[in-house]
Amino acid sequence: MSSLRIFVTRRIFPEALDLLSPFAELEVWPGDYPPSPQELREKAANAHGLLTNVMDRLDEELLDAAPELKAISQVSVGLDNVDLAEATRRGIPVGNTPGVLAKATADLGFGLLLDAARRISQGDRWLRAGNWRLAYHPMHWLGAEVHGATLGIIGMGQIGLEMAKRGRGFDMKIIYHSRTRKPDLETQYGLDWVQPDILLSTADFVSLHLPLTPETRHYIGEAELRSMKTTAILINLARGPVVDPKALYTALKEGWIQAAGLDVTDPEPIPPDDPLLTLDNLVISPHIGSASVDSRRTTCLLAARNLAAGIQGNRMEQCANPEVYRALGL
Ligand code: NAP
Repeated sequence: MSSLRIFVTRRIFPEALDLLSPFAELEVWPGDYPPSPQELREKAANAHGLLTNVMDRLDEELLDAAPELKAISQVSVGLDNVDLAEATRRGIPVGNTPGVLAKATADLGFGLLLDAARRISQGDRWLRAGNWRLAYHPMHWLGAEVHGATLGIIGMGQIGLEMAKRGRGFDMKIIYHSRTRKPDLETQYGLDWVQPDILLSTADFVSLHLPLTPETRHYIGEAELRSMKTTAILINLARGPVVDPKALYTALKEGWIQAAGLDVTDPEPIPPDDPLLTLDNLVISPHIGSASVDSRRTTCLLAARNLAAGIQGNRMEQCANPEVYRALGL
């Protein structure tokens, strides 16, 4: 029996578990709902490795409860649920899964963009409710043009770039804002870097691809929404709190912007009585950006490889705090 123990906080693809079982004793949380913070602390108490996802809160209290922890590996790119600074202070490498889910997430993002622009879900809801009595009218159900429009991408990382490529395929003009300019990408994909205020006031579609950090919480609030075109459409594929939901409700209700497509909300799940759900010019998917079979399998495999390396004292393939390796001499 192995002396290494891993707690996996949700069922994942079996082939990912197969990568870990040869050298560690695995315990997999069987429920669909996540373990409570207390249950997570109990499971982590004698674990050397944790395989987690975005719903698990990995804070200082959890780390205090896990004195034997050698590595954390998360099945996601965003780590806003992890106290990364505290893990780093304790020398615990934290793995994540950038890149492998970017294309699938951008596919979904572009789906939301098309849906919000051409009112696909809105039409579906409407006809299922028995409203389609007039077969066709030249002035009904008009939507926004996608081809030829300006797509403004905020956060030009892996997913932002995939959105840009899809936009190019639809003959869109692409402008972007990111902390750092990307001259090579600008040349290769014909992107124009602009300041956020210019992006917000000129884009027909504003698509968010930032990590959630204290700095990006409510990055889009009342002032930003008011500065957008009244015909603009907002897409949020990042994290719910990047957009102020109260301001978004007013913006959509009062017509400051035309429509929105969200894959993420604040909170998640969005309560059934949330005022946003009363709006017709909004389409929401339940945080399924990366949820294609291949993308999720590849992501789980990468997370398992990260944990396998981390728990055995080797460098992870994708580590969000590689500075821990300096202390370990790796
Ligand atoms: P990424 O490659 O790290 O890209 C994030 C980009 O945002 C980087 O280019 C980054 O910095 C830029 N950025 C960070 N803070 C900024 C700020 N304050 N202002 C302007 N730009 C800023 O990450 P990714 O793989 O594209 O993922 C982005 C986010 O999407 C994740 O953090 C996660 O929360 C979310 N996500 C959602 C789903 C879903 O299912 N909906 C799936 C995967 C990921 P630089 O400009 O310096 O490069």
